[in-house]
Amino acid sequence: MKRTFVGLLAFAVSSAAWAQNYSGYTPASQKKQEEIEKKWLTTTDFSRFRTHLTALTSVPHTAGSVQNEKVRDYLVETMEKAGWKSTVYPYDILLPKEPGYSSVFVVAPVRIPLNNQEYVLPEDPYSAHPDLWPGWNAWSGSGNVTAEVVYANYGTKADFERLEKEGIDIKGKIVLARYGGNFRGYKAKFAEQYGAAGLIIYTDPADAGYMKGLVYPQGVFYNESSIQRGSLLTLDFTGDALTPFEPALPLDGAKKIKRLKPEEVGLHTIPVTSLPYGSVKEIFARMTGKPVPAGWQGGLPYTYRLTGGADLKVNLNVQQKKDMVRVYDVIGKWEGTENPDEWIIMGCHYDAWSFGSTDPNSGTAMMLALAESMNKLAQQGIKPKRSILIGHWDAEEHGVIGSTEWVEQMHDELKAKAVTYINLDAAVSGRNFGASASPSMKQVILETTQKISFPDSSKTLFEVWKGAKKQEPNIGNLGGGSDHIAFYMHVGVPSLNAGVGGPTLYHTNYDNLTFYEKFAEPSFQMGGMMEQWVGLLSLRLANADVLPYDIPRYATDLKTHFEAAEKQIKGYSPDFKGFVKVQKEIKELDIIAQAFDKAMAAQLKKQTKTAAQMQQINAKLRALEKAFIDEKGMYFGSWYRSLYASSDPFSGYASWVLPGIQYEIEGKKTDKLTEWDGRYAGAIQQLKNQISELNQLLK
Ligand SMILES: [Zn+2]
Repeated sequence: MKRTFVGLLAFAVSSAAWAQNYSGYTPASQKKQEEIEKKWLTTTDFSRFRTHLTALTSVPHTAGSVQNEKVRDYLVETMEKAGWKSTVYPYDILLPKEPGYSSVFVVAPVRIPLNNQEYVLPEDPYSAHPDLWPGWNAWSGSGNVTAEVVYANYGTKADFERLEKEGIDIKGKIVLARYGGNFRGYKAKFAEQYGAAGLIIYTDPADAGYMKGLVYPQGVFYNESSIQRGSLLTLDFTGDALTPFEPALPLDGAKKIKRLKPEEVGLHTIPVTSLPYGSVKEIFARMTGKPVPAGWQGGLPYTYRLTGGADLKVNLNVQQKKDMVRVYDVIGKWEGTENPDEWIIMGCHYDAWSFGSTDPNSGTAMMLALAESMNKLAQQGIKPKRSILIGHWDAEEHGVIGSTEWVEQMHDELKAKAVTYINLDAAVSGRNFGASASPSMKQVILETTQKISFPDSSKTLFEVWKGAKKQEPNIGNLGGGSDHIAFYMHVGVPSLNAGVGGPTLYHTNYDNLTFYEKFAEPSFQMGGMMEQWVGLLSLRLANADVLPYDIPRYATDLKTHFEAAEKQIKGYSPDFKGFVKVQKEIKELDIIAQAFDKAMAAQLKKQTKTAAQMQQINAKLRALEKAFIDEKGMYFGSWYRSLYASSDPFSGYASWVLPGIQYEIEGKKTDKLTEWDGRYAGAIQQLKNQISELNQLLK
């Protein structure tokens, strides 16, 4: 049963009621499912997580490397051994698979080479691995420049605008920007737009270093040699740079894909690299310009200044090659017994910037353990009714490429068959649970987390997650930054992203097993807990009579988001009359969605439908999210087709709900608001009509 039929206000008080009832289940099938879930929870073997994590993260394995192909083979072997049918999907993508050459020197007034790799630490044997690379940023341009420096704070749009207002000329200078505030690729994009000759990105001790606490290996913060690596790719679509909308199928394959030329794509051209704060302090110590505005001072023991002055010269040399590189997704499938063409998909990438013990392979190890437990469950005669798929994506770190190419290849099938996509990137990196989801997936997350015991406590995962004060935990909106992007924002598969987080040495060479065992998750209990939850969630979705999407939540969430948008618009355009058409549609949607809940509950009680009729109902349910898929897409990129959500095109990671309208708000514009009122009202009307049809079918 869904939470209530009376809308918003009842939400908080009804948690006890829905704890006992499984959404989408008849009383009889719930009884069976309860048994299955009980069995599942005793089948999971908590020790397997550690075994797989140790095997997966013994060596650095970036996309396109031989080491990563060995990881691929381990995935296939493990999945096959556990009875999962595994398929390898190869793609030929444009990729800077290695750092190439990169160096930074202070050349005047003194000459100092700047360290660009993590120290070898006696406490951390992994830090001495010979295959580790210096700090670098994939998708840098190539160039050798010597210039004066400008400090741009976090290098956000607002920061560059502030520099302009301060009269600072960036042309021909090397920009120094700290990590944080936006996706690093935008720092490069803005620096290039303002005419910079190069860009150095660094982690400031105030944001993640000694100002925060003890540094690695004594503590969890960046030491003076720790470097965040990462992609700089900022195109107006996600995935392989040469094949938007199309899968980057192998060049030597039967089906030929039209590819763009690299020079047509608009890749960055200036050299960009990342340094640790122990190195950039040599630059900051010698800057002589005007002191920075409030909020721009970082944690190095100097007055931060906007410019270095004419006497301070820095040399930045990056020579980075891009090649056509073959990468591989591994998809494991457990065929459903009754509805094999309805897919519950979970996934995590397997390529890493170094060892990847938290990011990403804590997620990989958990999924492998889950695959094995599912097999043990099958040996007890329990198999899911719908198919469960496990996706191991390649080349995520370079720009969410592997998963996007697979989604583009499987586009039509996913549209018809995918029930949900569960993203598990770095999913076991600590002990703090968090989740973001499309509205329709929120309810089933709340229900299933109540069935899981939180390790070393007498509480459920749900209770620990919500904390003492709240009735219900917070579920965020899906943003960018990982493999759910194409599923959710391009095809309209209801998606969620979840995991347990903790301290992180994000994208450094120290993200290894020593760090994991000492700081990230020393108890090694959370891998098992996450496996229990993800498995239970998958089984719940796989066996439900009616797919347990939360339909009324569409109206509830849309109402909130449109109210927020109208408020923002009135902030710069007081005459704005509101989204009149949309508001009318949301009101009607709310009524029809409540009616759906009622009709479904009644139907589950009386069960008068044949299996074929149920399949038809579930197919229509899967189609609902597609009401938000708009062929014209966004003005900031037509590949982004979801009217409901996209990643923020100015910062990359953040979630933009109602992205068509958010884009207008960002530019403080009003001329397209009427158009968007119409387009959004059209989508909501379509959703409403589809739900009406379902209400008829449920009678
Ligand atoms: Zn990741």
